Amino acid sequence: MAASSNSSLSGSSLSSDPEDYQPPIWKSYLYQLQQEAPRPKRITCPQEMESRPKYYGREFHGVISRDYADELLVGTEGAYLIRESQRQPGTCTLALRFGHQTLNYRLFYDGKHFVGEKRFESVHDLVTDALITLYIETKAAEYIAKMTTNPIYEHLGYTSLLKDKMVHRLSRGRTEPRRVTFQRDEKISSPLVRRSALKDTPEKQCSYEKIHNFKVHTFRGPHWCEYCANFMWGLIAQGVRCSDCGLNVHKQCSKLVPSDCQPDLRRIKKVFSCDLTTLVKAHNTTRPMVVDMCIREIELRGMKSEGLYRVSGFSEHIEDVRLAFDRDGEKADISASAYADINIIAGALKLYFRDLPIPVITFDLYSKFIQAAKLPNAESRLEAIHEGLLQLPPAHYETLRYLMAHLKRVTMFEKYNLMNAENLGIVFGPTLMQPPEQNALTTLNDMRQQKLVVQLIIEHEDVLF
Ligand SMILES: [Zn+2]
Ligand SMILES: [Zn+2]
Repeated sequence: MAASSNSSLSGSSLSSDPEDYQPPIWKSYLYQLQQEAPRPKRITCPQEMESRPKYYGREFHGVISRDYADELLVGTEGAYLIRESQRQPGTCTLALRFGHQTLNYRLFYDGKHFVGEKRFESVHDLVTDALITLYIETKAAEYIAKMTTNPIYEHLGYTSLLKDKMVHRLSRGRTEPRRVTFQRDEKISSPLVRRSALKDTPEKQCSYEKIHNFKVHTFRGPHWCEYCANFMWGLIAQGVRCSDCGLNVHKQCSKLVPSDCQPDLRRIKKVFSCDLTTLVKAHNTTRPMVVDMCIREIELRGMKSEGLYRVSGFSEHIEDVRLAFDRDGEKADISASAYADINIIAGALKLYFRDLPIPVITFDLYSKFIQAAKLPNAESRLEAIHEGLLQLPPAHYETLRYLMAHLKRVTMFEKYNLMNAENLGIVFGPTLMQPPEQNALTTLNDMRQQKLVVQLIIEHEDVLF
């Protein structure tokens, strides 16, 4: 790594030299506040309550008035009890002393205790969390509102207290993004005749944007947000974690994190049924390696195979191939010695596409393509399909482009394999396109258009991409 190559970081105090790397300083203000927050103090009922539900303890006081509950709690921050509603017997209220007043929450139980979104094992935990949240969000409201304005994230990137990850990210930032551009040739009148100006960049590079896959997370022990560097307060569900790359941030910060998720291979458990962009980002490839490997194998020994993609291989063997990819990734053995019948490989490729959580032609573009196929005029039909293709996410676009060029080559062997664009359209239509809401009727109604879309893309693959 040349020392002079860090010009892309101008404006930042960082250099690419790992020796200069300074770990971020986590901000402790909210952590201190959490330590100061009032602790729960259970106010128990002196007599045994007959009506006490099994899941409550002595903090249950049965039917008592709001005013009486207030009297029992007054003077002690964090004091709490449960009372049964006078007006609606059977429903319970959590009365909690905070900020010199008594707060009342309708309390629910369905195996876990809750008053809002967060669910707790015990009422004590619920109150602990409520007191922390109330204390911090009252005392530091202004601070919290501003904590996202100067994130450490912009200076550092993410998941990085570790030098190696840091260096990896810095070097990754310097890779030029792969751009796919179309140039209109002015001399040719038809708007459809375009020259694809794809620059051939090395295969092992991928700079697609990928959004993080945030899920509410309960952190054990203190955790700090990797976006704003502030403490993530609360007892449970303190923030969110990206299940693809492991980035930990506040829920409110998650909305500001850029789409720069770099999935961690260790977190991606499967190859099949994994989101297409996630898979290529995790493996740092342009297309899913399943697609490349299957197509390479088919072009090597299957192009003249009669009924290629139409004849199905043994489903048990196809399942074997799937397991091999899930287990061994790019080391999966799909050679002729492992699977002599090429229809197994073709079947595995179709299965891969069918199992994608978001089809190659994405749910949000589905109806655009169906509408395109319904246009009466051949030229406008192709124009509309072309418009749709340009809106595909880059990883989907690249995958489709590669597959279609392959299927076009398959049709060149029609004399042997008896496969043309039309019957490949029948095979791949429903595999590459699925309606966002699956029901038997739409599936049936759209079959003709699905077939036509794929058929047209195969036939005009050279001008469409
Ligand atoms: Zn992520
Ligand atoms: Zn944050």
